[in-house]
Amino acid sequence: MNWNNYKNHVLLIVLGLITLTACGQQRKTENVFLITLDGLRWQELFSGADSSLNSDEDYVENTNELKELFWADDAEERRRKLMPFFWSKIATEGQLYGNRWNNSKVNCTNNMWFSYPGYNEILTGFSDDVRITSNDKIPNPNQTILEFVNGHEEFRGKVAAFGSWDVFPFIINEERSKVPVNAGFEKSTDNLLTEKEIFLNRLQDDVPSPWGSVRLDAFTHHYANEYLRKNNPKLLYIAYGETDDFAHDGAYDHYLKSARRTDEFIKELWQYVQSTPQYKDKTTFIITTDHGRGTEPKEAWKHHGNKIHNAGEVWIAVLGPDSSPKGENLPGQYYQNQVAKTVAWLLNLDYDVDKAGKVLETATQ
Ligand SMILES: [Zn+2]
Repeated sequence: MNWNNYKNHVLLIVLGLITLTACGQQRKTENVFLITLDGLRWQELFSGADSSLNSDEDYVENTNELKELFWADDAEERRRKLMPFFWSKIATEGQLYGNRWNNSKVNCTNNMWFSYPGYNEILTGFSDDVRITSNDKIPNPNQTILEFVNGHEEFRGKVAAFGSWDVFPFIINEERSKVPVNAGFEKSTDNLLTEKEIFLNRLQDDVPSPWGSVRLDAFTHHYANEYLRKNNPKLLYIAYGETDDFAHDGAYDHYLKSARRTDEFIKELWQYVQSTPQYKDKTTFIITTDHGRGTEPKEAWKHHGNKIHNAGEVWIAVLGPDSSPKGENLPGQYYQNQVAKTVAWLLNLDYDVDKAGKVLETATQ
């Protein structure tokens, strides 16, 4: 090889390396589904039904039925019974953060440990303990990642949110952000309603919710599903709410059954995504919760808020083509405020907000 050939050779290798590096940073993700389950404890996610609550007649109507459904002596078997999609699919192909028994910790950075501050932190990437101090229906002064993404030409009209709780239009500041939010007892008001949407609108009137400000998650789920099929959003936020309300009610059986149904809802969404060309192998799910709940004393499982010890402990799950299968083997300290920048990173946008938590690095490799 003469000198010139040698130089060309080296140049080609260098160019090759640069291309490889650039390709390595190329996202496969083009769509993100952000999903939350209100106040589902990491304890149930990582070890299934709690032995002391499972058989307590104060919290469970039919303890035999509940044992049949969710009990096993082995914690790994128990959690599979509770959330089979999480423990078959996400645990083998995705990532699960927050198993404190394995030294993987996820915490809120807000010091409130209830819903609005938690959703604000997830959606904006930072806590705001000065302005977000209640669950009141106050239009969020902070811009969420949904609003940020919707502000980009290529995503305009491709961001939407569905929630069971009627405060979401305020958390997302629907009026300012122009992100469509269907939450609480809102009906679908699209121009062209599908048969299913017409039926859901009717059914929502006919099936009373046990609560005044939260609808049953089936409505949120099916409204979101119809929207997904019609409008192909690139960033879809679905906020399921039942788990928190059943817990406040002290209904441990319903709390578990709701977690199980939501696991099934998420599985359905994933199956749709993986059978649809726009989404298949190009979509990342990030699933998390707004706050934890107590463990001590026993009845603290019903509650959260900063008077409840450790209610700021949460979890995050990631499933998608840019996040290698790490299962629950993710030791370290992570924060709720890292979700927003991770969503932006996955969509190849720079969410340049200094006070926002950094990208969840382990989810990008
Ligand atoms: Zn609550």
